[in-house]
Parts: sequence; structure tokens; C-alpha cells
Amino acid sequence: MNIILLGPPGAGKGTQAQYLVETRGMTQLSTGDMLRAARTSGTEMGKVVADVMDRGELVTDEIVIGLIREQLESVDTHGFIFDGFPRTLAQADALGELLEEQAQTLDAVIELEVNDEVLVERIVGRAEDARKAGQPVRADDNEESLKIRLMEYYKKTSPLIGYYYAKGLLTKIDGLKDIPTVQASMAAVLDQ
Ligand code: ADP
Repeated sequence: MNIILLGPPGAGKGTQAQYLVETRGMTQLSTGDMLRAARTSGTEMGKVVADVMDRGELVTDEIVIGLIREQLESVDTHGFIFDGFPRTLAQADALGELLEEQAQTLDAVIELEVNDEVLVERIVGRAEDARKAGQPVRADDNEESLKIRLMEYYKKTSPLIGYYYAKGLLTKIDGLKDIPTVQASMAAVLDQ
């Protein structure tokens, strides 16, 4: 079973993906994590993406589609959780084609719904907690980049909600509930 987690920055996609990895042995494909790994690897691509990410803008479709393609071809799994991908309609089309080439299907798209005030609180809070604990803070977890990330989400990613609704794949989950409640709702969707 392959699923997409859709939702703005701070909606809880990473937390929920982790739960599915632990409970179901699925494989999380987070383009954000892949891009952060690329930027620390010192490769040409890493250098190109670093500034774009820190500003809160989207990196090019070509780069992220390439990253996903490599993973789909090389990893054998109990199913993929796409976390932070696709983020544009072009990426969504490309994912459909890649899955088809691998004779795989997309089974569900789960939208985690939250409101903007909560997102800002969560992300700014996450950065403060990390700072207090002496842990690294994501360069894009500040209010300025967050505004851009949210705008990118509304302009480029939110059209995917209609796209997957039209394909009959979309389920909305209230992302404002506590973590175990959201996990239970996710499990219910997957076990349908
Ligand atoms: P969040 O969901 O908290 O914004 P991510 O870790 O998913 O964070 O992504 C961080 C950044 O990585 C994004 O702001 C963007 O610059 C880049 N990125 C991640 N996934 C994609 C994607 N599918 N397309 C384009 N850019 C992406």
C-alpha cells in the first residue's frame, strides 16, 4: 500500500509517517529529509538546494522527482509513505507515471488539516525547544521563512487536494487532535 501525506508545514506529517514506519514496516520517503541530507553531502545539487530551502521556497520539480525515482527503483518495501512529496501538480503527475512504470498503485492521500495559527506556534515552538536543548535548529524554522513556506503551500501544493479528490483518493483528517487520535484516524483509513 502506498500513501501520500498532504498538509502544510507543521501539520504533523513527519510524526505520523514515523508511526506508520514503526507499526506497519512501511518506508517513509521524505523529500525534505533527502534534500537536507543532500545539502550536508557537499554535492553540487546540495549547494543548489541549500539557499532555496533556507528561504522557504520550493526546489525544482526536476530535482525532487529525480530523488523519488531513485528510491522507487531501489527500495523493496511494505509500501511507501510519501511525506512532503508531491508538492506541485507536475510532481503529482510524475509520481503517477513512476508508480505505473513500477506496476504499483497509489492507494490513499491523507490530508492533515490544521489552521495557520497552530502551524506558526508549532514551528516556532519546535525551534525554541531545539535551541533550549542545544540541538540544531532548522534554518527554515523561523517566522520569515515560514511565511514563504505557507505561501508556497497555498499557491503550489493545495491544488493537489482537488486533484486527488477528483481521483477518489482523498481523505481529510483533523490534525488539531492529539497525536494518538490522529494516529487512530490514520490507521482507520489504511485498514479500510
Ligand atoms: P515542511 O513540511 O516542514 O515545510 P520539509 O522537510 O518537507 O518541511 O521540506 C523542507 C524544504 O525542502 C521545503 O521548504 C522545500 O524547500 C524543500 N522541499 C521538500 N520537498 C519538496 C518538494 N517535493 N518539492 C520542492 N521542494 C521541496
